[in-house]
Amino acid sequence: MHLTHKIALRPTPKQADYFARACGTARKVWNWALDEWSKQYAGGGKPNAMALKKQFNAIKYELYPWLKDIHRDAHAQPFTHLDKAWSQFFAEIKAGKPAHEPRFKKKGRCHDSFYVANDKFSLEGQAIRLPKIGTVAMTETLRFEGRILGATVSRTADRWFVAVQVEVSDEQAMLRRTGHGTVGVDLGIKSAAILSNGESIQAPRPLKAALRRLKIRSRRLSRQLEAAKLAVGLAPGARPPRGTRLPVSNNRRKSAAKLARLHARIANLRADFTHQLTTRLCRENQAVVIEDLNVRGMLANDRLARAISDVGFGMFRQQMNYKAQRYGMRLVVADRWYPSSRLCSVCGWKYEALTLRERTWACADCGTHHDRDHNAARNLERLATATALPVASPAGNGGAAAGRVPAAVGKVTPVNHECGQQGASGQEERCEHLCSPF
Ligand SMILES: [Zn+2]
Repeated sequence: MHLTHKIALRPTPKQADYFARACGTARKVWNWALDEWSKQYAGGGKPNAMALKKQFNAIKYELYPWLKDIHRDAHAQPFTHLDKAWSQFFAEIKAGKPAHEPRFKKKGRCHDSFYVANDKFSLEGQAIRLPKIGTVAMTETLRFEGRILGATVSRTADRWFVAVQVEVSDEQAMLRRTGHGTVGVDLGIKSAAILSNGESIQAPRPLKAALRRLKIRSRRLSRQLEAAKLAVGLAPGARPPRGTRLPVSNNRRKSAAKLARLHARIANLRADFTHQLTTRLCRENQAVVIEDLNVRGMLANDRLARAISDVGFGMFRQQMNYKAQRYGMRLVVADRWYPSSRLCSVCGWKYEALTLRERTWACADCGTHHDRDHNAARNLERLATATALPVASPAGNGGAAAGRVPAAVGKVTPVNHECGQQGASGQEERCEHLCSPF
């Protein structure tokens, strides 16, 4: 199993300066490669990473003379990354998922990072020896034992980190579970998560406070940006033409730095919170059911976007995936068409007209009062047990109007995939469980 340990670094000013230049190099090379790739592709060619790298190597010192001072891994890796990004893009298109093409990286805008291959660095206690700059102090020692695969140095606001990838044996990666429960988790907007046992988990106060401050500070920065546009004669809200340099006031620079630090703090708080939640869920349960939310698709929807990115759905899902493996926990991911909010978890009646605003509702069939999120979590939990409520796939849903979905529906597709110790069971096996609840 591949595990990554991200460790904060304590570079000297000289080392930090090298890091910044190496990141700049990685970004420039990425942009060069992406530009060249697109040109060749548009010209009917079939670009590939190897050929592009060769092409780049022939002209690189002419193009960027300062490249000699930067270790070659920083400018070799972007080609591999670009290759991967394109493959992923085409795979997603093929699977009918929303995808975006690899994009140009902007200075200060994107995640600044560069790569170091495993034969170019070494670790000794709380220190890492990197090419060109020597030993850099780390805030902790590497947590995992195993074959080291590589490292990525990155910056978040004004702090530097190294993420070391390690291949560890499955036995070493396995962690001990403390419980054997089964739980459904509904990731909410009001509370961070609601469990099927009724427990609601709130985002920590500091995170909430930081998010409130984020609103205020982003507004302040965008006001200053509008003022700068006005100063060069641009209409408010207009997009400055490419290459325009807006005047940068001291206040705007300060606001931008503050905002970047706040973003970094929020990212940290959110990561901590998500780690605690996912560890707890995986440690205490033998099976956890979560929803397959189409995060990208939802982020395109403005109204939901903020709330969703606040809870960090994508991060949650990713952590659940690898922790399920480490704890030997069965992770069940409900199909994104599974109407977990709309089914009555007591009798199975389906409330077709449920809107996002309705936080509570009463079942028209059995009269049970439901809290929206708790009911959803209970329906999710059922997917891991033999009592799941039947539901037709969206394609086969036409015949069944409002009301109870007939138990004899042939096509049942609530479970998307499972992972963890018990692995994925076959589709037929699942149908047998899901078609005969009551
Ligand atoms: Zn009911």
